[in-house]
Amino acid sequence: MIKSDITCPQCYAGYRRIELITVKGTKGEFRCLHCGNVLEVFDGSTKVAIRLTVQPVKRSDKKAAVGT
Ligand SMILES: [Zn+2]
Repeated sequence: MIKSDITCPQCYAGYRRIELITVKGTKGEFRCLHCGNVLEVFDGSTKVAIRLTVQPVKRSDKKAAVGT
């Protein structure tokens, strides 16, 4: 079992990734739950589970003032 952490490059949500190399998975992709960015594409050779661990940081609150 391989554990690692993923951070979404767009919204900075944090994910814990767990890969079971002895278990077959399914093909597909994992998208960020918050912004929809594709974080990983699975080829189905291993089982991968990804769970949200860190809520994304709100970097820019859209306020009325836009521009300089
Ligand atoms: Zn994201």
